Amino acid sequence: MRITVIGAGPGGYEAAIMAAKLGAEVTCIEKDEVGGTCLNRGCIPTKAFLAASDVLETVESAKDFGINIDGTVSVDYKAVVDRKNKVKDGLIKGIHFLFEENKVNLIKGTGKIIDKNTVEVTKEDGSTETVETDKIILATGSVPVSPGMFKYDGKKVITSDEVLDLEKAPESIIIVGGGVIGCEIGQFLSRMGTKVTIVEALEQILPNEDKDVSKQLLRQFKKDKIKVHTGVGVAEVEVSDDSVKASLANGKSVEAEIMLVAIGRRSFVDNLGAQDAGVEVDERGRIVVNDKMETSVPGVYAIGDIVATAQLAHVASKEGIVAVENAMGADKHVAYAAVPRCVYTEPEVAGVGLTEKDCEKKGVEYKLGTFDFRALGKAQAIGKIQGFVKVIVDNNDVIVGASIVGPHATDLLAELSLAVHLGLTAEQVGDVIHPHPSLSEALMEALHDVHGKSVHK
Ligand code: FAD
Repeated sequence: MRITVIGAGPGGYEAAIMAAKLGAEVTCIEKDEVGGTCLNRGCIPTKAFLAASDVLETVESAKDFGINIDGTVSVDYKAVVDRKNKVKDGLIKGIHFLFEENKVNLIKGTGKIIDKNTVEVTKEDGSTETVETDKIILATGSVPVSPGMFKYDGKKVITSDEVLDLEKAPESIIIVGGGVIGCEIGQFLSRMGTKVTIVEALEQILPNEDKDVSKQLLRQFKKDKIKVHTGVGVAEVEVSDDSVKASLANGKSVEAEIMLVAIGRRSFVDNLGAQDAGVEVDERGRIVVNDKMETSVPGVYAIGDIVATAQLAHVASKEGIVAVENAMGADKHVAYAAVPRCVYTEPEVAGVGLTEKDCEKKGVEYKLGTFDFRALGKAQAIGKIQGFVKVIVDNNDVIVGASIVGPHATDLLAELSLAVHLGLTAEQVGDVIHPHPSLSEALMEALHDVHGKSVHK
């Protein structure tokens, strides 16, 4: 079986390696660097940045733990960016190594689907190569959107692509969009010394998350002196040599050295030839697939940010694995009920399954269990007492959703993702002995709280 993957982001590169492991002869075509948005311009660079601001926060709070640090603490912004690049480059090498180990044939160039058995690759020097194949997996990802009114120029008005490689922390920044990217970059830059203003058109920052979780993060942003405008959009943007001014729809205006537009990403299917090859695309340019990742053309699959599911690296990877297994003859489906949603701010935010708002919209009757980290020995010991766990169960005690805001929320979420995925009840998971002292006890207490049995509440 010959399988050709177009795009080597977390969707495409994992699909290529898995296809090789399952015995296929694999070609992967990538126009840029392997690792895609996630590794080069997304998940990993932002987490490397946030790790730097965490170190700064730890050093600045050392005195609270009885540790004296003599001398001044300062940020070497270039070194922060250099470390981010070093982390990224190491991981890119890792993918090249895995490709070689698994005999994935990587072709550098832009792939275009001609028909279900033919892909044409245009290389940097303009030459073309034709790849004959049995199955095709489209994994070309997404790019940031920046509508004309924002006057994007890549210098004063930028997107997440440029913000990761600034030579110095800007003196001030307006961030349009209070979603995951806006919040993560906003807090990082604020801790690097930048004056940050976030403008979010919807009623809360992190609009897809639980309202109380969003409020908790907002409280931290206030402490960080990040200015936040919610429920108001940007009406007009004026760019001059040394500043950017955003007039808001409520008549107010904000001004800063630069502006980051972080309002979403669009599927990247430009020049991919998908439609000409008969692949159905929806009104927003996303490739239409079923839960087996099959497109309208038999033998052609699509995964990751180019389809209409959550734009997350772990979703792209799972879809890639399922597409490959199906291409090799299996009958696999992606289960989307338990997709983890993670935000790596301080405090971290994590959610899975339904929020209260989702339950209300869907008419699901629900009960809640909550628990504050502040009441936990481990949280007190490590000095991270901010935040809480909220679990949501249906009428049958089945855990249908959970939200966590607090220390290590993104790691803690895994247990509740498993519970939602397997349809476990609050009683079943609450019955498990959790280690003491650990932050995971907050999950157990919240699960006990569903039945009014949390000992420490
Ligand atoms: P991509 O990663 O976009 O990869 C697509 C690849 O295809 C690219 O390398 C591109 O060059 C290549 N390509 C495109 N067209 C062609 C063509 N015609 N021929 C050859 N190659 C082509 N997600 C998380 O889960 N966790 C996070 O913490 C997180 N943080 C993020 C932070 C930021 C700032 C951003 C922007 C995104 C973040 N994401 C995060 C989202 C995540 O990066 C994406 O969901 C993920 O990268 C999508 O994977 P993909 O394989 O579908 O596409």
